[in-house]
Amino acid sequence: MNYNMDDLISDSKELFDKLTVKANGAVNMSKAYIEKAQLRVKLRDKYYALGKTCYEMHRDGTDTTGNMKMLIKEIKMLEAQLEYAEEASGKPKVCKFCGAKNSGENSYCAKCGEKLS
Ligand SMILES: [Zn+2]
Repeated sequence: MNYNMDDLISDSKELFDKLTVKANGAVNMSKAYIEKAQLRVKLRDKYYALGKTCYEMHRDGTDTTGNMKMLIKEIKMLEAQLEYAEEASGKPKVCKFCGAKNSGENSYCAKCGEKLS
């Protein structure tokens, strides 16, 4: 699945919406799940800040703030944390219905709401 910036931004929100509405009351909201959602939100913010810095650099011709390097470092750290959290929650489950890759602890597909086996 290809990820673009918009997907990334809507993902966490969509996950919450779909899990709450579609899972017929069987809502899966473990602590690990929430932690991962929070990490994704943090990542999204960093990606946003990186994009903004990048824009300003090109606009002004230089990165006077030195933010770029710092942001990339922070993003790398967050990505590593998220990867670790994903691994800790078990093997990813692939939805048979839509093909989306779901976290191992999910009972229902975060994308389409189908039950995961
Ligand atoms: Zn699905």
